Amino acid sequence: MKILASSTLITVLSLSVFAAEFITIGSGSVTGTYYPTGGAVCRLVNKYKKETKIRCSVESTGGSEYNINTIKHGELDFGIAQSDVVYNMSKGLKKYKNKPIKKLRSVMAIYPELFTIVTRKEAGIKNIMDIKGKKINIGNPGSGQASTAEILFTYLGINKSDLDFVGVFKAGESPDALRDKLVDGYFYIVGHPTANIKDASSSVKIAITPLIGPKIDEMIKDNPYFAKANVPAGLYKGIDKEVPTFAVKAVLVTSTDVSDKAVYTLVKAILENFDEFKKLHPAYTNITKKSLLDGLSTPLHEGAKKYYKEAGLL
Ligand code: GLU
Repeated sequence: MKILASSTLITVLSLSVFAAEFITIGSGSVTGTYYPTGGAVCRLVNKYKKETKIRCSVESTGGSEYNINTIKHGELDFGIAQSDVVYNMSKGLKKYKNKPIKKLRSVMAIYPELFTIVTRKEAGIKNIMDIKGKKINIGNPGSGQASTAEILFTYLGINKSDLDFVGVFKAGESPDALRDKLVDGYFYIVGHPTANIKDASSSVKIAITPLIGPKIDEMIKDNPYFAKANVPAGLYKGIDKEVPTFAVKAVLVTSTDVSDKAVYTLVKAILENFDEFKKLHPAYTNITKKSLLDGLSTPLHEGAKKYYKEAGLL
């Protein structure tokens, strides 16, 4: 009797272990905004892990393009990626020509990310065209900034060979590279404020180059995922005036391979704890439940749709 009872217990226990689903979110470098965002999402998902049997973890990665490629291969369940990269990779456009990733799905468009050119103030890069002849970290292959820089350069008529040095460092390495004068500036498409730029501004005098003018206007007009935005004043040492530039959105994406249950559970955990979520990072200051559906550039996953419908948001 005792033996029977304990073997039943073991069966029940092992069944519940097997029923658990582990989900991983690909993010970016740890001092960026994707990584703490992945952490914030997982924190809320894991609040319910006993009931839902879904356990969430976040991974530091090389950024947008890397995350989408890794989701495609089934090695990540979710990832955070720039809306422009999501659009072009899912449709097979621009540098991803003819290689559409049809199974890519949106979960939510979380917050705006701004194209930010962080420079050493003494380098005197007042205008984007001043980067010619300078040492610039464009970003590691797989990062969103390296991808978007190609679009920007096409509009501005800048070639990589116009630069004195084209850096391919990871975002997390950029502040030290700036301080050590390996570069005069670096590109970062990121939600503000971010630890990365705080670090840079505390070790060297920085400036942020505005991205304005007729060619930028044309680029924004031609591409549905770009919008004007300003880096707010007062977030970083030495940046006392807002800096005009353009933005995309940081979108949480997944694929049709991921279960409706996992996606539904994740969306529900965030939406039902939305005030708590908003407090987890200052980049979320202006977001609303509705804004989560603005700037999606690939169809919603069915599991997400189900929750948004129930919540009356769709
Ligand atoms: N937008 C960057 C990228 O796609 C990452 C920004 C971040 O880590 O916050 O690579």
